[in-house]
Amino acid sequence: MEIEKEKSLNFIEQIIEKDLEEGKNEKRVHTRFPPEPNGYLHIGHAKSICLNFGLGKQYNGKTNLRFDDTNPTKEEDEYVNSIIEDVKWLGFQWDGEICFTSDYFQQLYDWAVQLIKEGKAYVEEQSAEEISAQRGTPQMPGTFSPFRDRSIEENLDLFDRMRLGEFENGSKVLRAKVDMASPNMQMRDPVLYRILHAHHHRTGNKWCIYPMYDFAHGQSDYLENITHSICTLEFENHRPLYDWFLDQLASGDRPQQIEFARLNLNYTVMSKRKLLELVEGSYVSGWDDPRMPTISGLRRRGYTPESIRNFADRIGVAKRDNVIEVSLLEFILREHLNKITDRVMAVLKPIKLTITNYPEGEFEDIELINNPEDEQSGSRIAPFGRNIYIEQDDFMIDAPKKFFRLSPGREVRLKGAYIIKCEDYKTDENGNVIEIICTYDPATKSGSGINRKVKGVLHWVSAEKSIDAEIRLYDRLFNDEDPMGHKDADFKEFLNNDSLKVLTNCKLEPSLATAKVNDKFQFQRLGYFCVDTDSTENNLVFNRTVSLRDSWAKKRK
Ligand code: ATP
Ligand code: MG
Repeated sequence: MEIEKEKSLNFIEQIIEKDLEEGKNEKRVHTRFPPEPNGYLHIGHAKSICLNFGLGKQYNGKTNLRFDDTNPTKEEDEYVNSIIEDVKWLGFQWDGEICFTSDYFQQLYDWAVQLIKEGKAYVEEQSAEEISAQRGTPQMPGTFSPFRDRSIEENLDLFDRMRLGEFENGSKVLRAKVDMASPNMQMRDPVLYRILHAHHHRTGNKWCIYPMYDFAHGQSDYLENITHSICTLEFENHRPLYDWFLDQLASGDRPQQIEFARLNLNYTVMSKRKLLELVEGSYVSGWDDPRMPTISGLRRRGYTPESIRNFADRIGVAKRDNVIEVSLLEFILREHLNKITDRVMAVLKPIKLTITNYPEGEFEDIELINNPEDEQSGSRIAPFGRNIYIEQDDFMIDAPKKFFRLSPGREVRLKGAYIIKCEDYKTDENGNVIEIICTYDPATKSGSGINRKVKGVLHWVSAEKSIDAEIRLYDRLFNDEDPMGHKDADFKEFLNNDSLKVLTNCKLEPSLATAKVNDKFQFQRLGYFCVDTDSTENNLVFNRTVSLRDSWAKKRK
């Protein structure tokens, strides 16, 4: 059994268990999720949240939520609040107070001064272009800056004056004195501080110099006693630099950085910067547009936190970059919605159907099982009568043999009700069918035991007693598997123009009149739907969360 269990550990769990065995960090496990509040979180962040908070839970450890807010020009409280909401909605709770890198600005500044005093940092006055031109290439060492050897006193004076606001943006930076010949470009005297006369969402105008992300990240982990600092692969070559900083500044336990492959999903872009472009360009209605891969978009679309956690779990953690099929996410979503949603009847494109041998003005109660997957879910009543609506698509005049729906002379069962036979139909002056004329067989009521074999079962709603709704059908936001993978084309060229279809005058069974925002249902034969945040008492709006089956599997051959 023990061996079985060990085999299934992912590589991060293996590292943690080894550390625990060796008694590292006093056997503590402390992880963190460190978003930059420069946008709303996406499904990739959800992966990271599930991983970090999951490990904290699994090893009776702790997990911090830390905002890496070192860039005042792109960061906002709106983003902070949305991130807090998303983490909670996913079902996780951080330990202690929420942390902000900006809370460490003084400490980081003091550390920068310490590096200067030890001759390990200097004030650079060349432009960003000059600095980068002197950096060299991985094969060729860089060139020393002419300012590299200025005196400690001069550096202290200049850095202090940078802090006091004497210099313009971009006129000076503080650089670490590491190794201009290192094969790792990150080590070639990286910038630690820059001048930015900008208002910070938390520290206001207190600072006009801000630490670079690289100078802040590892030290923030250290200050929070993080044991395992899990990040994505692009930071692998930053690790030696983070270690160098801590070699100079830290004592005692230190965070260990572990890199894993970021989640990539096909048919999706997953960078806050790109998603912001879609929001600002009004390609979508906002960060929470139900087509967005943001957590808020998925939530509004009708995803459940369970399905996202389950997805994160099933894809596991990889060391190499890979692309996950978005259809896997949808499959796992369906699996969950199938278990928890009531089956109800809704007609998206209604056509009138009249049952001529059913008495006018009379109605009867049809009992419908709420959810066959859930015995506790009970049943409800839907009114049945002479006039109903069915889907336009469920009727055809000249139907092929394999059309198991309604057509002149053929019989179908109405879900939970009777077998009906199509006797006739009416058309308008253009030949469009506007009404289907049927008779019903009173002996065939569902549950009566009399059940002639008919091939099709159709959903329906009462014409008089149904309620109206607007229904939004979504498709993938991009019609290309890899919208970012085209060198000569902007990713927005691959937006799917048909990603949103709005249907009005849809007809729902009356039990849905009391549905609240976010309530989820299976519309029989159509898919999973939820009440959208735009919904009001007078204008019910539903989103299609996902269809019953993967329609893209066919399209892709
Ligand atoms: P983006 O490019 O979308 O802005 P980011 O990495 O810059 O992403 P951060 O706010 O810095 O965004 O990320 C917070 C945490 O989420 C980081 O630890 C990062 O590694 C992780 N993360 C971001 N994107 C993904 C992803 N696609 N898969 C897994 N983890 C991710
Ligand atoms: Mg980023």
